[in-house]
Amino acid sequence: MKTILRGEYGERALDPRREPMHELISTILSQRTTHADEEAAYHELRGLGDWDAIIAAPTAQVAHAIRRSNYPDSKAPRIQQTLMAIRDSPSGYDLDFLRDLPVKDAVKWLTDLPGVGIKTASLVLLFNYHRPVFPVDTHVHRVTTRVGAIPKMGEQAAHRALLKVLPSDPPFLYELHVNLLRHGQRVCSWTSPKCSVCVLRERCDAYALFDGKVPSWKE
Ligand code: SF4
Repeated sequence: MKTILRGEYGERALDPRREPMHELISTILSQRTTHADEEAAYHELRGLGDWDAIIAAPTAQVAHAIRRSNYPDSKAPRIQQTLMAIRDSPSGYDLDFLRDLPVKDAVKWLTDLPGVGIKTASLVLLFNYHRPVFPVDTHVHRVTTRVGAIPKMGEQAAHRALLKVLPSDPPFLYELHVNLLRHGQRVCSWTSPKCSVCVLRERCDAYALFDGKVPSWKE
């Protein structure tokens, strides 16, 4: 599957796109939010000052700053709580110790933070620290389930299930993640998968099962 997707969407080098704290907070902002709105919300949030200043700001002001992100009133206190927990940890805002912790412990440290789930933790660990984890967002989840790489299950469980069938190779995992995401956005959409032009159709369980007329995705 990775080779087919590479032929369609190209090779992807594993380079951190942004520094770890940026990745972490942006991923919280990205939940149910477009990329453009996530970036705008992050930019305005950082306009409040450094991380300490964001913690000290009134929560309503933080919510206003991130209003381009969906659910700002629930995300604002979570972001402040997350920042507080990181500030009070032994390494403060420097997350580089995650590079050397056993993967299991690194995942646990991140997911123990308020507002940080397995997807956010996996993105930070794979993108920033090149650890062998596999972030599963809604697109990756939908495509891998439809093709039959994993049985139907929730997104959280899919993280573990996919790791069991994929090589423990960060560059491989990164490229597959990015290209599955792209495939889910461009071809294998929620409501109308374009199976007739899909490069995965010959190996897609849903395509075979529904004879090319794959119905809308329902979780
Ligand atoms: Fe998705 Fe259809 Fe492609 Fe299967 S054949 S991966 S359902 S677009």
